[in-house]
Amino acid sequence: MSSPPDEPPDNTGPSGESNPADSEIEIYRHSSAHLLAAAVTELYPDAQCGIGPPTDDGFFYDFLVQEPFTPEDLRAIEKRMAHIVKQNRPIEKKLIPKAEALDLFAKKGQTLKCELIRDKAGDLVQCYTMGDFIDFCLGPHLPSTGRIKAFKVRESASQSYWKGKEGNPSMQRIYGYAFFTKEELDQHLHRLEEAKRRDHRKLGRELDLFSIADETGAGLILWHPKGGFIRKQIEDFWRDEHLKGGYDLVFSPHIAKIDLWNTSGHTQYYKANMYSPIDIEGVEYQLKPMNCPFHITIYKSKLRSYRELPFRYAELGTVYRFERSGVLHGLMRVRGFTQDDAHIFCRADQLGGEILRVLDFVTMVLRAFGFERYDIYVSTKPADASGTDPQWEVATAALKEALETRRLAYAVDPGEGTFYGPKIDIKIKDSLDRAWQCSTIQVDFHNPARFDLEYIAEDGKAQQPVMIHRALLGSLERFFGVLIEHYAGAFPLWLAPVQAVVIPVAEAHHEYARNVADKMKSAGIRVHVDDRPEKMQYKIREAQVQKVPYMFVVGKTESADPKVELVSARHRHAGDLGSATSLSDWIAKIARFSSERAVSEGEVPMAPRSGGTGPQPVVSGGVR
Ligand SMILES: [Zn+2]
Ligand SMILES: [Zn+2]
Repeated sequence: MSSPPDEPPDNTGPSGESNPADSEIEIYRHSSAHLLAAAVTELYPDAQCGIGPPTDDGFFYDFLVQEPFTPEDLRAIEKRMAHIVKQNRPIEKKLIPKAEALDLFAKKGQTLKCELIRDKAGDLVQCYTMGDFIDFCLGPHLPSTGRIKAFKVRESASQSYWKGKEGNPSMQRIYGYAFFTKEELDQHLHRLEEAKRRDHRKLGRELDLFSIADETGAGLILWHPKGGFIRKQIEDFWRDEHLKGGYDLVFSPHIAKIDLWNTSGHTQYYKANMYSPIDIEGVEYQLKPMNCPFHITIYKSKLRSYRELPFRYAELGTVYRFERSGVLHGLMRVRGFTQDDAHIFCRADQLGGEILRVLDFVTMVLRAFGFERYDIYVSTKPADASGTDPQWEVATAALKEALETRRLAYAVDPGEGTFYGPKIDIKIKDSLDRAWQCSTIQVDFHNPARFDLEYIAEDGKAQQPVMIHRALLGSLERFFGVLIEHYAGAFPLWLAPVQAVVIPVAEAHHEYARNVADKMKSAGIRVHVDDRPEKMQYKIREAQVQKVPYMFVVGKTESADPKVELVSARHRHAGDLGSATSLSDWIAKIARFSSERAVSEGEVPMAPRSGGTGPQPVVSGGVR
């Protein structure tokens, strides 16, 4: 991940678009941007129009105005847009000689448009009209405003700078959503609401999972006890599965001599993401941005034979990468994170088998967390790459073959491989159909050569091994963020820091409640007794807010018979599960869900998931 340069060259069209709109939905959304500009200039004749490109879910338009738009203004603008739609005004292309166009826009007080025409137009200026409203644009557009069926203006405008440059006039940016149908628009608005409700930063606070403190620094995560517990569960599972899967666990330090990064090429190719070196007794050390060179050094510590290969070194390795403060985002974009990293050193003839093995491992691990749907990409050779064409071909073919063998659909991302080799990227789809980049499998010819890696082949000659870099979850921080949002904080039983709360109805039942909790604890269930002097309903509500899977209420009825232990059960999603039910049955059930790592609690209905019309699931092979 490299950060974009501060001032990208301005190749955009007059509406701020990177290309003329070419897909139907882009044309639709771009036309909606003009609709917005028409409404604004009709209601506020002094408003100057800036740019107005389509976006992923609609459009925006920037305006230079004396007073910021209020929510009432925005509602009036939306109303005016609806009115123009109703009028079904034609949207017509006009080619106007430059001098004439400049004159026309100047007369309308559109100074910024004149600037754009001077910057970007040829001798003939392509304009589009929508009734009296005229705009300078590459087009194309819908034939008339009546074609726009479903749009909505966002509740508040935001600020931007003219041409994106600080110091330039401050513009009011109005965003809108636009879809072909009302139904699609409503679904989108619902998903946005859901995403807000599930925001991991909000839930992280409410559930006391993690924080980022001013005192410690931006982009650096503090895992609180509950978040820490979930991380332990993830790590335990991860380590156990790696040992079962033929990996060795290794550990490496957070700093190393800078020479190591010179050899790996990171100081050359990756400098923008690295922190400044640290001087230790006159020698430069580097805070690690990656774990690879450490695992390579372990490989190199002995002479290796073809019989021993492959070596699979796995590490939950914490790395530090520079990110500008402006792009940091909760757990998703941070400056220090723990990669669930591994490096496989194998013979060329083992490459295909190893890739397949990693692929099976990825899908097994992701399924354990409830992720069954993926968008998969194979990235091929970039222009500036190390390694020979035949090497790239073999490795790329091996990656594709593994996916095809497992009947996993993928798209090719041409030229998007790393400089050292091709890769598979797996984006997991969450419950809102959003795709998150997590897993990656990368083939590498570059580092084995840079570090002179060898093994002794059957004929006694030294050969170079192939390296595979892979991460399943990507980064623990980011994956945790995805998990929080996917489950809206209601983690599956095996991850939930607290699995059950026992709620005594009155003080007389405290002892019985503790007895119930002790029974559960001895079965390995994470339970606590809420014996605060509060009302039962209040305690239930609180456990509910904390998304505790089970609540067991105990009172007179439940504790009546000393020979049979009874509880009244509630579930965080399903609500009441029946009064005076058998404690031992519940213990057996919870212990089973937990040990099986069930992603939902069996017959109990889960929280309603929002439907979505996003991309359909890819074919997933039966790889478990
Ligand atoms: Zn346009
Ligand atoms: Zn690596």
